[in-house]
Amino acid sequence: MSLLLLQTRRRVPEPEPAPLTPKPKPREEGSTPEWRGSPNFTIGRSGRHALAIVLHTAVGSLDGMTAWFQRTDAQVSAHYGVGLDGRIHQYVLLTDTAWHAGRLETGNRWSGPSGVNPNAVTVGIETEDLGRPETEPVTNAQYDAVLECCWIALRTYPDMDWLVAHRAISPASRSCPAGRWINTGRIQQLSRDLGLTLVL
Ligand SMILES: [Zn+2]
Repeated sequence: MSLLLLQTRRRVPEPEPAPLTPKPKPREEGSTPEWRGSPNFTIGRSGRHALAIVLHTAVGSLDGMTAWFQRTDAQVSAHYGVGLDGRIHQYVLLTDTAWHAGRLETGNRWSGPSGVNPNAVTVGIETEDLGRPETEPVTNAQYDAVLECCWIALRTYPDMDWLVAHRAISPASRSCPAGRWINTGRIQQLSRDLGLTLVL
């Protein structure tokens, strides 16, 4: 019986060529930061390295914040500013200290080293909101560009642990980065995409 089966067995047709496995997508080119230098920074990081990314919403436009950060009398800056259209302006080198979140206010949830200004151990990212911090939607282009800034920072400081809302450092005076990031789940998504612990 088995012999008969063997003899009568039809030739197995040539297998269809396996469908091509899709090649892994090359890493998409992110927006490239454009250098817009601010005079408002401290050289170096007081002998430390960055532990956290601090996210902000600018209550204004990208070009407005760039002009402001370039004024010496403003006394504020960030490492990056990100437009709704995904443009990235860079004001301070990642290895230098930007002046974006230094005021450690009563009730803060900052868990960085005590006695150290948070600016020395954070990367600051500002985001354009056209003056509507609660309601201006974070566009996909802006989200992706912020993500790109975070990846650049993580390549420079791979040991970073936290994504911090500015209000966690300055709860008395700031709602930053406000509803457009917090109520929409965007900042929560960002922390998941980056594998960083969220401090709200
Ligand atoms: Zn802020």
